[in-house]
Amino acid sequence: MKAFEKNIRKVEPYVPGEQPQRKVIKLNTNENPYPPAPGVTQAIQNLSVDRLRLYPDPTSKVLVDALAEYYGVGPDQVFVGVGSDDVLSMCFLTFFNSEKKILFPDITYSFYKVWADLYRIPYECQKLDENFHLVKEDYYKENGGVIFPNPNAPTAIYEDLDFVEDIIAHNQDVIVIVDEAYIDFAGRSAIELIDKYENLIVVQTFSKARSMAGMRIGYAISNPKLIKYLNDAKYSFNSYTMNQTSLAYGVEAVKDKAYFEETVGKIVETREWAKEEFRKLGFEFPDSKANFIFVTHPKYDAREIFEALKANDIFVRFWGSERIEQYLRVTIGTREEMEVLFDFLRKYFAEK
Ligand code: PMP
Repeated sequence: MKAFEKNIRKVEPYVPGEQPQRKVIKLNTNENPYPPAPGVTQAIQNLSVDRLRLYPDPTSKVLVDALAEYYGVGPDQVFVGVGSDDVLSMCFLTFFNSEKKILFPDITYSFYKVWADLYRIPYECQKLDENFHLVKEDYYKENGGVIFPNPNAPTAIYEDLDFVEDIIAHNQDVIVIVDEAYIDFAGRSAIELIDKYENLIVVQTFSKARSMAGMRIGYAISNPKLIKYLNDAKYSFNSYTMNQTSLAYGVEAVKDKAYFEETVGKIVETREWAKEEFRKLGFEFPDSKANFIFVTHPKYDAREIFEALKANDIFVRFWGSERIEQYLRVTIGTREEMEVLFDFLRKYFAEK
């Protein structure tokens, strides 16, 4: 080994779901099957290429203002970034600087471990119970910070706001991050609690309910003090995270509340129907409040189903990791895409 190797920051990176370059039924990365709001198409046509000569506004004012208005908070309570991955990574860097361990669930968004390793943050995973629920008492112990998604991924389980508040209330000496990537498909958001708890940051994204995973927009809502700390870290890292186009398209997506509600409504309706179809086929799953369902079959092997689906151009997500070896995560697509999935599964099981 060369001497310089010792100085290199080595990390085991996060592995994102596959993005096949040909047309498949893509139910593997929780994207929205519907297009972004019509205003976004308009904005794409209206954006002058000459704008690209200039650096974007480092404060991302138009987008911050649009989000502040949408949530009824001050612009100094909103931080935007390149997808919620960027926002969460900045949060880890900014808020998790204790010698004490940060806490997050054992089965959760696998990026948390990667950021903790990257930034040398000590962590301890807390085991979900046998039904994949968070155990709130596990988060009462001394720690260097807490993060969990609600709904959790990949389980799709939503914990109600009293439950979330209990964890925040028991951790007022550290920062608690609630990752709400899927909240629009679920229920009440912890944004309701930001005036009550100074230690709370809520992170959301345009990638799921707003159909803009390709644009990379995420945001955090908190109090002005914590948002300032985040901005200070951002300006010490990269001033121009948000490009000209994401600012313009993002504003249009936030403006169209009716379209957003209609799209979310359609996905929730398809999800509820898909639960019935999965049940009829003998699958079991925790009740989903997200845009995906985490399914297991008592008779058929998850990896085999995954491979068979893939061979037929139907992509779902499979990890094969501890405690979830027999589970598949299936994103809710359009009704038509889901019909193809269920037709395939019916045939596959009949021939087994
Ligand atoms: N949090 C959770 C729980 C997620 O599942 C995802 C999607 N992979 C993200 C955050 C990041 O999403 P994005 O960067 O597209 O906003």
